[in-house]
Amino acid sequence: MKTIPYGRQHITEEDISAVADVLRSDFLTQGPKVHEFEEKFAQYIGSRYAVAVSNGTAALHLCAMALEVNDTSKVITTPITFAASSNCIRYCGGEVHFADIDPETMLLDLDKARSLLETHPKNTFSGIVPVDFSGHPVDMEAFRQLADEHNLWIIEDACHAPGGYFTDSAGQQQNCGNGKYADLAIFSFHPVKHIACGEGGMITTNRQDLYDKLLFLRTHGITKDPHLVKDSHGGWYYDMIDLGYNYRLTDMQSALGISQLSRADEGLQRRRVIANRYDEAFNGSHIRTLSAKKGMGHAYHLYVILTDNRKELYDFLKEWGIYAQVHYIPTHLLSYYRQLGWKEGDLPRAENYYSRCLSLPMYPSMTDQEQTFVIEKVLEKSQ
Ligand SMILES: *Cc1c(COP(=O)(O)O)cnc(C)c1O
Repeated sequence: MKTIPYGRQHITEEDISAVADVLRSDFLTQGPKVHEFEEKFAQYIGSRYAVAVSNGTAALHLCAMALEVNDTSKVITTPITFAASSNCIRYCGGEVHFADIDPETMLLDLDKARSLLETHPKNTFSGIVPVDFSGHPVDMEAFRQLADEHNLWIIEDACHAPGGYFTDSAGQQQNCGNGKYADLAIFSFHPVKHIACGEGGMITTNRQDLYDKLLFLRTHGITKDPHLVKDSHGGWYYDMIDLGYNYRLTDMQSALGISQLSRADEGLQRRRVIANRYDEAFNGSHIRTLSAKKGMGHAYHLYVILTDNRKELYDFLKEWGIYAQVHYIPTHLLSYYRQLGWKEGDLPRAENYYSRCLSLPMYPSMTDQEQTFVIEKVLEKSQ
């Protein structure tokens, strides 16, 4: 039986030859493809700068480092995301404060974040990490306003939302991760995401000071930039000005990313068609869908339904070769975060969402027949 995963990459012959060309070239890493990918990605998203890194988690870690998160930092984020969104704060020794979610969109709730800020003394918190969960864009203008009132930086985890946008108060479409409101934004190129590099990540920003830092942090803290290196012993000379990491992306991965990026809009259109068809199919059934709010360009990394018999439905679909998934187990209930003091009951909306959520197959290469089969099986178990 052919199985249907919840998400998967779409690789074409063009992608394969783009990677093969790099293998025949002079540079497997640190060659021209990395910069080309960064330029094209920045252009696609509409940000001033882009920095390619080895994966989305490395992107988050470097963002936290660039913003100088340390063991005195307290940072707010959502529990309904992949654990990396909060782990990056822990890597730098900071304290994570989860705020509950909006019961409509399941994104970090602006009012819950605000009340967390207002019930602590001024300047308790240093930053906030909103996530464009499932591909539903965060209203970043509203978060920027809140952040400015409390002197916070923003890292936008946009892993689910390349090509997504929200509409700002002036009626303008603002792409997720375009750097207009968030200080930094990050993307992942894991094969289940919109653009596949195998492993890969990108940081976007409009701030030159952060861009300059990210460039040396991703390569050990080493630089040859004459503005940053004081003396020179000759052409070979470099300095290590901070403790960085090797978080570089290779040219092979970048070539795959460039080739994938050229089809990103096509893939996004297909995701929206699939989402519309699910919406229509479940309309009037017991299945609750999470539809996009007005003015939101949903990027549909995930198609999430809410159902009271989630476990039965999950098991039933699996028997038929349909591998639905759960996104996410609330981060605060993972053992590591429980050890830090979080427990059941702390975030009731997130916990309620988790008890009922299921992500149905959503990827551009899913055929109409496959989707018909998924819909039939979901409805069969949900009447
Ligand atoms: C995938 C993902 C990450 C991590 O990306 P990797 O490339 O797998 O390290 C972080 N945040 C979110 C929301 C993700 O979906």
